[in-house]
Amino acid sequence: MSIVTPHVRKHLSADALFHLVRSGFASLPDHRLDDTEISLTDALMSAFAMFSLKAPSLLAFDKERAEGNVHTIYGIVRVPCDTHMRTILDPVSPKGLRPVFTSVFRQLQRGKALEPMTFLDGHYLLALDGTEYFSSKTIHCASCLHRVHRNGSITYAHQMLGAAIIHPDQRAVIPLMPEPIVNRDGTEKNDCERNAAKRFVAKLRQEHPHLQFIVTEDSLSANAPHIETLHAHGLHYILGVKEGDHAYLFQQVQGAEHAGRVISYERHDRAAGVVHRFRFVNDVPLNAANTGVRVNFIEYWEIGQAKVQHFSWVTDLRVNTRNVYHLMRGGRARWKIENETFNTLKNQGYNFEHNYGHGEQHLSVVFATIMILAFLVDQAQQLCCALFQAVWAKLGSKRMLWERMRALFYDYDFASMRQLFEALLYGFKKSSPLVTLDSS
Ligand SMILES: [Zn+2]
Repeated sequence: MSIVTPHVRKHLSADALFHLVRSGFASLPDHRLDDTEISLTDALMSAFAMFSLKAPSLLAFDKERAEGNVHTIYGIVRVPCDTHMRTILDPVSPKGLRPVFTSVFRQLQRGKALEPMTFLDGHYLLALDGTEYFSSKTIHCASCLHRVHRNGSITYAHQMLGAAIIHPDQRAVIPLMPEPIVNRDGTEKNDCERNAAKRFVAKLRQEHPHLQFIVTEDSLSANAPHIETLHAHGLHYILGVKEGDHAYLFQQVQGAEHAGRVISYERHDRAAGVVHRFRFVNDVPLNAANTGVRVNFIEYWEIGQAKVQHFSWVTDLRVNTRNVYHLMRGGRARWKIENETFNTLKNQGYNFEHNYGHGEQHLSVVFATIMILAFLVDQAQQLCCALFQAVWAKLGSKRMLWERMRALFYDYDFASMRQLFEALLYGFKKSSPLVTLDSS
């Protein structure tokens, strides 16, 4: 019987991407004057390996680390103990990690891995959303947000603006470097999602001046200043709107309806027993204060046998009966930033909300950012590595996949992650353990 090995695209394999991440880390400046026994690269790569292996805590990683595989697979010379890792990583500026995200992204572009993510006329759908991943009454650092309660007590928190390229037909998402929402210079003034979005968009454009994006966000973002920011950076948008928050807009649509300007459209999906009902109108003002900001409006009902779901959006893309169904799918795909991204990070082995260590300066942000980097590398495998897909299908769930991967990693020596995945897929002959005797 011959075995057909699933096709692996060499430059996009886990091993190639680990190598790329490691060389990215190696270009970060190490400002430490003393104690350079363990390099900054090794400390960063150890954190990456911890998230890549989905080790449940720093301690578990520290106790179980298998020096052999950590060296061959992740290229780490020396793994710091947990306390040491925290000390080395706390002063690292999170923005130094951005080029590492970019180099993985460029590799995906070169390997044409992003082609299946194209949504409309060469544009990618980019979902943005804020999330909180840490809060505490006692643990805090210089970059924590402060929520002061009426009784004077304070809750400390960490939030970030997450961003991912999504596609309605793809389960994989491609996360970009998130924008931390943090206190600047230990001031009392809190940063906020809106400011983070402004910074994010400016950096996105700096980094990818020619990529075409359609940004999709929830209704909090459907405000005139944000739309103007998107417009100024050449970004298209599909943003959620709600009648309660956008009363003026809905009145304008009602007016347009009376004037006969609103178009109704229906599509029947008999196989699924669903009716897709739309009404849309182009060129209406978003609100009374900014009548210069004009948008195209889509309202949509998904009418199933048991329930009706209702959504509405505004977009700068001109709506017609040919594209309204596709635009609706783009607007609805926004949930992937919550579900396929944040929920995966929180509940599918990455422990996004677990406190791996808080630090006094940046540690909490550094850990969260490196976790998303590990998630990016995993998603790249999910999107384009047939070997990864085959192992996932065989084991039936990600949870099982990470569990089996970790067990093998700690118990056997492998030359590469590819060899480990092949062992998971085809099985392997187990040998008796070679017991090391203590001769002292
Ligand atoms: Zn903090």
